[in-house]
Amino acid sequence: MTDTPVDPAGEVVELCRELIRIDTSNYGDEDGPGERKAAEYVATLLDEVGISSTLYESSPGRTSVVAQWGGSPSSGSNDVGGLLVHGHLDVVPAAAEDWQVDPFAGEIRDGYVWGRGAVDMKDFDAMLLSVVRARQRAGRVPTRPITLCFTADEEAGGHQGAEVLVAQHAEELEHCTEAVGEVGGFSATVRGRRIYLIEAAEKGMAWMRLTARGRAGHGSMINRENAVTSLASAVARIGAHEWPVRLTPAMRTLLAAVGELADEEATPENAEALVQEFGGAARMLGAVIRNTVNPTMLRAGYKVNVIPTEATAHVDGRFLPGYEDEFFATLADLVGDDIEVEYVSHQQPWETPYDGDLVDAMTRSLLAEDPDAIVAPYLMSGGTDAKHFRKLGMRSYGFAPLRLPADLDFTALFHGVDERVPVDALEFGARVFDRFLDDV
Ligand SMILES: [Zn+2]
Repeated sequence: MTDTPVDPAGEVVELCRELIRIDTSNYGDEDGPGERKAAEYVATLLDEVGISSTLYESSPGRTSVVAQWGGSPSSGSNDVGGLLVHGHLDVVPAAAEDWQVDPFAGEIRDGYVWGRGAVDMKDFDAMLLSVVRARQRAGRVPTRPITLCFTADEEAGGHQGAEVLVAQHAEELEHCTEAVGEVGGFSATVRGRRIYLIEAAEKGMAWMRLTARGRAGHGSMINRENAVTSLASAVARIGAHEWPVRLTPAMRTLLAAVGELADEEATPENAEALVQEFGGAARMLGAVIRNTVNPTMLRAGYKVNVIPTEATAHVDGRFLPGYEDEFFATLADLVGDDIEVEYVSHQQPWETPYDGDLVDAMTRSLLAEDPDAIVAPYLMSGGTDAKHFRKLGMRSYGFAPLRLPADLDFTALFHGVDERVPVDALEFGARVFDRFLDDV
């Protein structure tokens, strides 16, 4: 054990750059490079400071890493259980020709680390590794058992990563009662005040294929059973539908905080206007105060003078926790009777109550580094590995802290071109996460 101060943010920038340089593009099939190289790198970094880990490979090259860290034998029967801290190692692919920099070079330019994964989510993987290594070196090991988990395949649903860990290696995870992972803890600026958004809920997902069937025939003749016409009508109804505003507990709390800044009480009626206060982030936040369905794919026919028997469309539906019944009832009305609906993917939404010691610890650690800020929960429009880990009964939050410039359109960087993260935001995040681990 040493008294030498070890900076929790000391390695975060270099580790983030190194992780970006290991291409872990996930194409949703077996064409990508896989996560094995990144997983081995993570295992080596942990091993260097004396933390042993296990690599789990669901299929060749699709590798996740799990390490058990901390925990004191004296925790006794009041033990709150373990804390799972998880990040994914894969990234979505990048078309290099669209970028200002090589997406896999980990370049630093204008105070940012650039590259695929810079915000989703090699930034947090790097923070975690920098903090854990510094604390381990300094002998500052948390008394609460911490499970560190770096997963494969999150970007394609986690079927080769978190889902496999939960199904086949639950013994590594089932002592955990709480989990923190991605897409939360970053700041947005409203009326000059930074609000840190802790993810406390995720929407459910209903990816559906709609099939209309009709009578085939010559394009020159009368045909009142045209599959293209009936499918197109249904798709137009779905796409144009204005879904009513529905506020779940997380969004009610967030909008109340924004309402205070705007000096008005948050209601369903002004929710849309309050969401617009977030600037670029309103694209995402506007989608989590209501159910949504976007038509995304259309397919029918093969020749201009032939009416086909069948036409298909895909739609991407996302529904709020607690509003699933309303979602499916409305959708059934919009689709109509004659169109067949099949699920391509159907995932449940979730919401964790925004209370308790872990929420206090997240809030305190953020405010210690950014005292004038506001910390509030939000509901995320997409899904993360949390949906798998929650099956083991964990309370889940998104907490990957970043203090961001007011004018940065952060949510556009997820899966976007020129993905990048401010160097000082990475260092801020590592310091916050270090404080958080003091407190959990
Ligand atoms: Zn992610």
